[in-house]
Amino acid sequence: MSAGFNLEEEALFEKTGGAVLRRLRKTRNPADLLAVLRAAHKEFDRAYAAAPAAARATVACRAGCGTCCHVPVGAQAHEVLLAAEFIQARFSPVDFEALLGRLAAHRAAFAGRSMRERAALKTACALLRDGSCSIYEARPESCRSHHSNNLDGCRSNLETGIDFTNVLIPEIRGRMFAVMLAIDQAVAEAGFDGRAYDFGSALHEALTDSLCAVRWTQRQPAFPENCWEAGEPDEDPDAGVIRAEGFFE
Ligand code: SF4
Repeated sequence: MSAGFNLEEEALFEKTGGAVLRRLRKTRNPADLLAVLRAAHKEFDRAYAAAPAAARATVACRAGCGTCCHVPVGAQAHEVLLAAEFIQARFSPVDFEALLGRLAAHRAAFAGRSMRERAALKTACALLRDGSCSIYEARPESCRSHHSNNLDGCRSNLETGIDFTNVLIPEIRGRMFAVMLAIDQAVAEAGFDGRAYDFGSALHEALTDSLCAVRWTQRQPAFPENCWEAGEPDEDPDAGVIRAEGFFE
């Protein structure tokens, strides 16, 4: 794997991906497959805790901020299905209906727009409530992976729509990225859907069509094309699909 990893990150990628792939292959009951990936998400917490204390001390992210929750979020199908499971188990009927309304509005606003146009909308994620994530335990991998050392930089990047300020913390970002890529690659190696979806659009689909989860367990595409993460008009729509390449054999 060449993703600019240092030796430690490369080892984390191989260890995490190999373990997830072995567990997915040993799981016989389709209903238990998502539980394997829910457990794998704990690896983000372990990787964060293992990052140097000096790097962790620079993290500016705080509950109630939510600045980074105003950009399009991409997610693999298993992340969307884990979020849907959490919402179905934890949300009250009133909160569930309200969320469905926000997700439907999000989906309509994103339909037919390129990634650049979606980002320019600066739409708040439908899961953001009072500045905090309402599905924090089940948030997508890109949300788990993001840590900033500069809140003013986050705000000005959102304001201008351009990442003028680098707010990422290399010692943390590299570890998080290794875990994220390892899990997603292991899912693809096990034969599951490797496409990136727009999180809000696919979550709306998952919460309104229970067959999405069935299709995923059968190793079919979980969500329709109108839920795909958008690229630019001249880009190959399959360019970002993660495919089995024998990384962990
Ligand atoms: S899922 Fe949660 S953390 Fe991720 S963008 Fe939405 S509100 Fe923010």
